[in-house]
Amino acid sequence: MNDIALKAREAGVVGSGGAGFPTHVKLMSPAEIYLVNGAECEPLLKVDQQLAVKYATELVRGLQLAMQAVGAREGIIAFKAKYVEAIAAVQPLLASNMRIHILKDIYPAGDEVITIWMATGRRVPPAALPKDVGVAVNNVLTLINLARAVDHGTPVTERTLTISGAVSDPITLTVPIGTPLREVIARAGSITTTKPYFVNGGPMMGKLLDSIDQPVTKTTGGIIVLPEDHIVIRRHRQPMQDIMATARAVCEQCNLCTELCPRHLIGHELHPALIVRSANYRDIGKPSVLLSALTCSECAICEQWACPVDISPMRINVALKERFRAEGARYVGELRPLDPMAEHRLVPTSRLVTRLGIAPYNKKAPLDESEAHPATVVLNLRQHIGAAAVPLVQVGEPVQRGQLLAEIPPDALGARIHASISGRVTAVSEQSITVNA
Ligand code: SF4
Ligand code: SF4
Repeated sequence: MNDIALKAREAGVVGSGGAGFPTHVKLMSPAEIYLVNGAECEPLLKVDQQLAVKYATELVRGLQLAMQAVGAREGIIAFKAKYVEAIAAVQPLLASNMRIHILKDIYPAGDEVITIWMATGRRVPPAALPKDVGVAVNNVLTLINLARAVDHGTPVTERTLTISGAVSDPITLTVPIGTPLREVIARAGSITTTKPYFVNGGPMMGKLLDSIDQPVTKTTGGIIVLPEDHIVIRRHRQPMQDIMATARAVCEQCNLCTELCPRHLIGHELHPALIVRSANYRDIGKPSVLLSALTCSECAICEQWACPVDISPMRINVALKERFRAEGARYVGELRPLDPMAEHRLVPTSRLVTRLGIAPYNKKAPLDESEAHPATVVLNLRQHIGAAAVPLVQVGEPVQRGQLLAEIPPDALGARIHASISGRVTAVSEQSITVNA
């Protein structure tokens, strides 16, 4: 393991924009291009675009370190043109082998497969990884965390996230990891709806929360508060049997879900219309058609934008994915030609905001980094892809902020967990460590 990857491993750095892939593993694979995904294309989330302004030096330093670790010859930072301040802050700091790529303001510009295609022209084949086309990708906060880990030995103990939607004062704030979401949401003023529902993540790809007593994790990018009757919430709450019944009853086989699917457009077999049809007719489709559900990014374009009759091909894909993963099935398929209309069929963010009915909530959420002092933090032992970290502390032990609390199991993929506040350990379970200040 190279020194930079080792420092990332020691500090518990994971991809903060998605599922939390351990960064040290990414830094051990060679790549020609290191791409910073600064698209932040989920409407209402305002984290990376503000961090890139405030911590431009650390962002560029993180990119330089990442390029060094993987031997990349080029570093690209992909921003949307509307992130004017971020571009102005970062541009003067770039080395000669780095450049900014301006992304169109479309959704899903931040799906890394789409970002890679837009920024480099390379297309990641279905079921392949960015490294298979010589590219490594991380988002803004991940590279800031990498710079802090390498230059100062600072472990990941904080998370910046946006609280937006039906709240009086949308805000983007930095809090200790493990802070209860309830406390974080309270920092956004009052909730302006009587029956609030909470989405963890953006309105397109976020997941409905069943409780806001859960803690912030390394991958919590935002919480969106919406009324019970909002279309985004109604879709989230629709039971699977209703989705299947609607699909059977009203699918017009118009093919729009396929024609607008970003993965299909760049040459993946994934064909949501055929999957819906196959699922409707007792799985009569070709095995590869159904298995291609495994390559669905869950971007929700088919559900929230394409389908004229409110079917959710994405939810059908998610159900199929669960089944195939339980069976250990894998998708194998070739990259096909790019759809000539690909560039023109991705969705303008402004139109998406209107379609989703979130325009009234699309406000600034200014960055507030005043220190938070939660009385208790709950540190989940799996905040990343891979195995749960193994606790190194016991109930009653005093701990200092930044102290290593849980280690990666031997020979496993995983990430370390550190104390985000100083205090005393009050609970240790297979799922989490609780620290009281
Ligand atoms: S969610 Fe729908 S549109 Fe998005 S990748 Fe999956 S099938 Fe395609
Ligand atoms: S967009 Fe909707 S109606 Fe059209 S094929 Fe897809 S699921 Fe069926």
